[in-house]
Amino acid sequence: MKFDLDDYLSDLETIVNIDSGSEDIKGISRVADFFEKKYKNLDFKVKRHFISNDSDTGCSLEITNTDTEEYDVLLIGHMDTVFPKGTAAERPFSIKGRRAHGPGVIDMKSGLLLIYYIIKAVEDEVTEDPLSICIVLNGDEEIGSKNSRTLIKEKAENSKVSLVFEPGRANGDCVLERKGISGYNLKFIGRAAHAGVEPEKGINAVVELGNWIVELDKLNNYEIGTSVSLNLIEAGTASNVIPAEATASLDLRFKSEKERKKVEDKLEKLQKNPFVKGIKTDVVHRGMRPVMNPSPKTMRLWERVDKIAQEYGMDINWQSTGGGSDANFTANQGVPSIDGLGPAGGEAHSVDEYLELDTIEPRFKLAVDLLLSLKSNPL
Ligand SMILES: [Zn+2]
Repeated sequence: MKFDLDDYLSDLETIVNIDSGSEDIKGISRVADFFEKKYKNLDFKVKRHFISNDSDTGCSLEITNTDTEEYDVLLIGHMDTVFPKGTAAERPFSIKGRRAHGPGVIDMKSGLLLIYYIIKAVEDEVTEDPLSICIVLNGDEEIGSKNSRTLIKEKAENSKVSLVFEPGRANGDCVLERKGISGYNLKFIGRAAHAGVEPEKGINAVVELGNWIVELDKLNNYEIGTSVSLNLIEAGTASNVIPAEATASLDLRFKSEKERKKVEDKLEKLQKNPFVKGIKTDVVHRGMRPVMNPSPKTMRLWERVDKIAQEYGMDINWQSTGGGSDANFTANQGVPSIDGLGPAGGEAHSVDEYLELDTIEPRFKLAVDLLLSLKSNPL
């Protein structure tokens, strides 16, 4: 099983230097072109989704080596990043010491590319009766996989195992548990009035919002993993006008459905019983990722990963995180799912993001052995 780090880094440089922020539909399409060509060279079938003119996200690729709709393994990575167009020109791919930098290098162009190297090695190794493989590379993960989630769920439903190549944690750990995420847009509509001449005629949207902030803050319970955060607020038009409108964006993270329900019940109650007379409120659910809890089958898959890691002398553990990924969807479909299988690094979503070069080859070997073991000894 050969791995050429120089080849890998040269490919990585190419894709990191293509801007592919979630809004940059053309950029995502260029990354898709890169992978379409590579997988077609391996004789894989490549199907592009969400490419119509009215698609509001970048495309997704469905890549497979089989005509059946049943897969031994589903591998997932995302092509989009959180960085706007122009970032790659500002700070292109670079290597300093044993770390690589550049937009999306850790989240997750390195993992995205590693999937290809893994598949290529596995295809070289197993020539007869190969594993049936499905790969989904989506272009909207950073905006909640709003279009691709259906595709991912559908593919997960027909797969025995799901492996997600989001980055390994800074210490190399994988991820078996992720919190659920739910987002809401809150809107308050009152009535504007001159703050000096006739304030009594106003219906103050900010006062209503302020009361909601205090009430919702009471639902935070970090010990059991619930966080209720109002992270974006807009209100008012001028310093002498009673604000007629206020909006807020709510981010909820939870480890149990019960906690999610608690917050939603509270939102309903607040809406029914406004603090400010005459105010109108609107709560729009932006979408949700379900909780990813490690099932007994996921634990069996993890034991296998752990065993292979030990054979290579790697010390990898698993951890739980509050950040969501597409593994939330696959785990929720009841498919054993492991995430964080990509190379390790840190400071994702920031200018300081980095990839640890020395974790690339070990992660490659780990995943190749895991896939080969799924062939010889299905879970
Ligand atoms: Zn990511």
